[in-house]
Amino acid sequence: MEGDPIPWGVVKIQNGRIEAVETEGAAQAEENLGQTILLPGLVNVHTHLDLSDYPASQNGIIDFIPWLDSVIAHRLSQSPEQKRLAIQKGIEESLRGGVALVGDISSHGDSFPLLQNSPLYSRVYFELIGLTRSRSEECWKQFASWIHSNQGTEKTGHGISPHAPYSVHKEAFLRAGKTGLPTQVHLGESLVEMELLAKQVGLLEKWLAQKGLLDKEALCDSMSGILRDLSGSRLLVVVHGTRLDFELLPSGYLAICPRTQARFEQGELPLLAACRNGWKVALGTDGLSSAPDLNVLNEARLVRKNFPEFPVQDLLRAITLNGAEQLGFAEKLGSITPGKTATFSCFPIPPDTHPGPLEFLFGSSVPCSGLMIDGKWIFQNSFPNE
Ligand SMILES: [Zn+2]
Repeated sequence: MEGDPIPWGVVKIQNGRIEAVETEGAAQAEENLGQTILLPGLVNVHTHLDLSDYPASQNGIIDFIPWLDSVIAHRLSQSPEQKRLAIQKGIEESLRGGVALVGDISSHGDSFPLLQNSPLYSRVYFELIGLTRSRSEECWKQFASWIHSNQGTEKTGHGISPHAPYSVHKEAFLRAGKTGLPTQVHLGESLVEMELLAKQVGLLEKWLAQKGLLDKEALCDSMSGILRDLSGSRLLVVVHGTRLDFELLPSGYLAICPRTQARFEQGELPLLAACRNGWKVALGTDGLSSAPDLNVLNEARLVRKNFPEFPVQDLLRAITLNGAEQLGFAEKLGSITPGKTATFSCFPIPPDTHPGPLEFLFGSSVPCSGLMIDGKWIFQNSFPNE
């Protein structure tokens, strides 16, 4: 299904793949799901699973610099076992929300083996961090060791993520681009980041100086320069982009995290501006250090509330096919199309819903009632252990 919803549609599955999609009456169903919306498995294009044990702070405005301090302190306090449990918790929470594919920004790439042993499809982006040359070199060595010791598979792929212009040495962008790997980068997230790049002043400059991390020679001078340095990357995804001027940049892939971006109060979500300028947008939850949960459908619900003019079909693509494309899995996932894997998330729907199933889905808080990946139910009706 890449077009309109099919009422009482029938999906034929063979060996974990979709063989055919038929309309009502065209085929006899062996398993009748009843009053259910059947969607492609959802895609959370950007998250940080290793922050899934971050102390809950569901709502409220976030001040960017104190928040950075808090995330750094949390990471430093995590033991390897706590981090492993946090990632595992994030995987389970994703599955419960009907997510079948995640793009995970991973500190030290530690989520890779855990995701590989889970039912999820994933793209794991090794996070490059370190503004000073010595920190940058150390992180690069860790990346080189990680990529050699973790074999990619059909369901779990490698990626690289130079974190952000204020936290990464400028040479790391060029190096990341030269790997040719799928890449995600946080760009244009806040006003203080823009001030630092444009004039090397402001609160972020002071914060870096206080921490002894400021190296002005290491800072990039423009967003377009960063994108140029990363041009060798396959599947380059810009994350957030709240402060970017999309009219001045060549179009590409944008990942936005509406609930997180609302809490940072850095300006309007760049959804419409990006789409107007030819960018392809997918939704992510970001990590639990800024989002209330890892349910990407809830991100779409906030978009529906704040941008009712944005078409529901496009909103569905932002949590399915566009995300699968950005993560390099569009041949297997993202739509109910013959040849793709039999990967679906299910949501109950009352009879005679008006104006339509997608309006109902995005306008309600109905939870996921089932998830199938590769033709196997991960859960149906209730999540295991609940
Ligand atoms: Zn992020």
